[in-house]
Amino acid sequence: MAAKKKKIKASGRFGAGYGTRVRKKLNAVESLQRKKQKCPFCTKSGVKRQAVGIWNCEKCGKTFASKAYSINP
Ligand SMILES: [Zn+2]
Repeated sequence: MAAKKKKIKASGRFGAGYGTRVRKKLNAVESLQRKKQKCPFCTKSGVKRQAVGIWNCEKCGKTFASKAYSINP
């Protein structure tokens, strides 16, 4: 019999020891994080995170503050 694959997304790399609630929260954060972030100034997706909450657009060169792991739409 084939092993049953669990659908646990990004948090699958952690075992059960972290608890189900924190792993669910991590899935929400990381799925956003992996999407291309759009620059609020030039609407192009070339934005990179410099530090927690600090973002820099490669296209227009602007540095701005936003959420820690993603940019507010
Ligand atoms: Zn930009």
